[in-house]
Amino acid sequence: MCADFLNMAQNIRLFEAANIEYLHIDIMDGCFVPNYTLGVDFCRKLKQVSPIALDLHLMITEPEKKLEWFEGAFGEGDYISVHYESTVHVQRALQKIKDMGGKPMIALNPATPVVMLENILHDISAVLLMTVNPGYAGQALIPAAVAKIKKTREYLDTADCAHIEIEVDGNVSFENAKIMSEAGANIFVAGSSSVFAPGDISGNIGKLRKGIQAE
Ligand code: ZN
Repeated sequence: MCADFLNMAQNIRLFEAANIEYLHIDIMDGCFVPNYTLGVDFCRKLKQVSPIALDLHLMITEPEKKLEWFEGAFGEGDYISVHYESTVHVQRALQKIKDMGGKPMIALNPATPVVMLENILHDISAVLLMTVNPGYAGQALIPAAVAKIKKTREYLDTADCAHIEIEVDGNVSFENAKIMSEAGANIFVAGSSSVFAPGDISGNIGKLRKGIQAE
């Protein structure tokens, strides 16, 4: 949602040239979060025009009832995250993502404790930690977020789940990305505070990667 919509193809070519691993798409329903953003047709279009894997972040209520709308909008190698707080049937939603061929990811809001992962460890490939409250771009990092990344990494490793990745979403600035990486994050959602910050996109991508790899 931080990209230039009137020059989207140009943005995508830059991402391809920079070997960007995922296109993170925020899907909001105006109910789970107080905003609307992108939809299913946009995701399908992206799948047609770029080989970059998708990372669909569903900020919608009861996603298990709406996942079939996404038929053709994701496939093998694409991540789909649903929020722990968005449904009482979170395991069903994760299972459905797997059945549809995607890689399931569970998203946790800042106030949701890490221990909520306990009974879904076998249903997920990654955990998305919100480091701001979901809904808008351009927010400041919640202070407890870095400690939570560290705690999540320890929790997963202790549970024999070292293979589960940790994605961070919210105020992933050049400075914060390094701190988040040191805490154990390995997928970084780069928005208005890094890749789309003032300056050129390719330069910003290089700067962000350098910061993360300098740990
Ligand atoms: Zn997101």
